[in-house]
Amino acid sequence: MAVGTDLTSDVRRRTSDSLKIGIAGAGLLGRLLAWKLLRQGHRVSIFDRGSRAAELSAAKVAASMLAPYSEVVSAERCVFDWGRMALSWWPQELAALKELTGEHIDFAVEGSVVVAHELDKSSLNHFEQQLRSKVADCEHNIERIDQRRLADLEPELAERYRGGLFLAEEGYLDNGALLSALEMAISQLGGEWHEYSDVQYVEAGKIVLENQTYEFDWAIDSRGMGAKNQLPNLRGVRGEVLWIHAPEVNLRRPVRLMHPRYKLYISPRSGNRYVIGATEIESESMKPVTVRSSLELMSALYSVHSGFAEATLLHAYAHCRPAMPNNLPEIKCTKGVLVVNGLYRHGYLLSPYVVETALEMLE
Ligand SMILES: Cc1cc2nc3c(=O)[nH]c(=O)nc-3n(C[C@H](O)[C@H](O)[C@H](O)COP(=O)(O)OP(=O)(O)OC[C@H]3O[C@@H](n4cnc5c(N)ncnc54)[C@H](O)[C@@H]3O)c2cc1C
Repeated sequence: MAVGTDLTSDVRRRTSDSLKIGIAGAGLLGRLLAWKLLRQGHRVSIFDRGSRAAELSAAKVAASMLAPYSEVVSAERCVFDWGRMALSWWPQELAALKELTGEHIDFAVEGSVVVAHELDKSSLNHFEQQLRSKVADCEHNIERIDQRRLADLEPELAERYRGGLFLAEEGYLDNGALLSALEMAISQLGGEWHEYSDVQYVEAGKIVLENQTYEFDWAIDSRGMGAKNQLPNLRGVRGEVLWIHAPEVNLRRPVRLMHPRYKLYISPRSGNRYVIGATEIESESMKPVTVRSSLELMSALYSVHSGFAEATLLHAYAHCRPAMPNNLPEIKCTKGVLVVNGLYRHGYLLSPYVVETALEMLE
């Protein structure tokens, strides 16, 4: 599909004003920026040290929940405000991606459910108090639910829990499908892929590989943890997730289990698949998932729903979330170079805000 054909009516034709833009890092931010810039009619080259499958990115590993309420409890208020913008941004972008590539990407904002075992009710109460104090102006979207309401929302949870919280403005998207649709769209719009290209550094108008330097009007550094050599304050926060197939479990919405030691989350995918996570470790280790983490995750999981006992383990992934000291995104633009990083545990929630802000800066 050439740029400017009528399938994507809003794709601008390339003109003499089109810029030549190089992007280092084809994870979440790199792909989203490439997609938006190509649609604006620019010429984009995108470099990654892995393949187009994004297997080295944090984006591929993520649970990709869109949870502005749950996240603001331990974050600054701006994470909530920027995150809520994502709930209307994603449907537009996913529709445009589908129009171009034909790929459907699961996305739902039908709320999330937070539960706790009777013994851990104080953790749930504390979470609710903190949440209500942080977003008092949106309290109407925080609902304390009893067992009957839980049975309406998630019938299989009502067998074990007497109630919990329902957060109406939360959801998730299918990150694997998104990353692969973006890869297709970038190729279809004429983006130039440089796979297995380890970028040494990025400077004004230049992307420097070991044996070659590429020149652009603008160079964008979106290497996530890979940009640590140029962002000394960047740190990694390790997370581990299990991808499982549980034919006996039918949950529609993301579920969080409040627990004094670890807060388990379950993010649904199509076909009774679920992404399970909990860990957040101040470590930059990328070693595979440990036995201790998987035991903790799996026993907490089994405590949520006995149907998980017969589930099969599809993948166990570990990666590091790229974080700045204040755990907020960094968007820095100086002549010829744009740096975007620090999405921490909010990549899918905050990338819409970061991408739109970065595009404004480029303009
Ligand atoms: C376990 C876990 C669970 C998560 N769950 C959620 C969630 O539920 N909701 C949510 O919103 N966010 C979640 N996140 C956070 C989200 O995944 C990240 O914030 C997001 O992926 C960061 O995007 P990025 O583009 O900056 O980095 P990445 O997605 O990591 O992409 C960086 C890319 O740069 C490439 N690269 C690195 N170094 C180089 C180099 N030298 N040369 C060339 N290429 C290079 C990498 O290969 C990679 O493809 C989670 C993260 C983890 C680890």
